[in-house]
Amino acid sequence: MGDKVIWGLSEKGKFSVKSAYYADLETKNQKTGETSNGDQNERLWRKVWRLTNSGKVKQFLWEALNGILPTRSILFKRRIIDNSTCPVCNREEETDIHVLWDCPASVDVCGEDCSPVRKWGRNYADFTTLWSNLQSKLEEGKLHIVAEVLYDLWKRRNDMVFEGKFKGPCVLIQQAVQEVETVNVDASMDSKRGKVGIGVVVRDFRGEVHVVVAAPIQVIEDIKAVVHAQPGWSVTFKGRDGNRGAHAVAKLALSLSTECVWMEEVPTEVLPAVVSDLPSFVMSV
Ligand SMILES: [Zn+2]
Repeated sequence: MGDKVIWGLSEKGKFSVKSAYYADLETKNQKTGETSNGDQNERLWRKVWRLTNSGKVKQFLWEALNGILPTRSILFKRRIIDNSTCPVCNREEETDIHVLWDCPASVDVCGEDCSPVRKWGRNYADFTTLWSNLQSKLEEGKLHIVAEVLYDLWKRRNDMVFEGKFKGPCVLIQQAVQEVETVNVDASMDSKRGKVGIGVVVRDFRGEVHVVVAAPIQVIEDIKAVVHAQPGWSVTFKGRDGNRGAHAVAKLALSLSTECVWMEEVPTEVLPAVVSDLPSFVMSV
């Protein structure tokens, strides 16, 4: 009944958050230490691991890109089932490219107004060829949405086969768009008062701000205690480019006595800084 889950990154082939974390770390390390010697395959995987924090989506992409997504075509070839026809449209063989791209039910989803792949063609030989094209033509925010949509298409197919449920195209793509949010976090420190302000700004893929959190924390004594307990340790605080919004919120947090959360609005004190981060979003969407 249930699909077998195979994860190639841990010794026993079982998925674990730890193995995904180390795979992610490894690719990040490779990125910083490497300039031109990475081949195409490495670049593909590096982008996949950086794309999303969702272990389920990573695992799905890993299976699909290795050609082992348990579609009816695969199960038929392994003689596990005796019918390879798509269970959704009942018209064609259910290969990976069929279920994720060519099936009329998937075409409906990708043709929705907010879909980043609305006018894309249907002439891809297999899923790997399609994904290479998506990676080279879409910027990261849109690629992330497409990854969520593809995962949701596969999940919807499984929900239909195993539970008899089926979501409409509009619900599915809106769900995928909502999944993709950017979280900026920054800290600001007032060493005289021994106070740290934490600033968090959450945006959707269009750059629209959904949540702002400013949290003041008296932690310097805790940090000092930890640092003093470790011989040779020291602490430095570095600013970051492109994180002006979260940095301004962190500074605002220093003036607060308790944590504050703004939903679907931006406090006026930090508005200029939050807006100044916006052009990079607009340019890239
Ligand atoms: Zn179909």
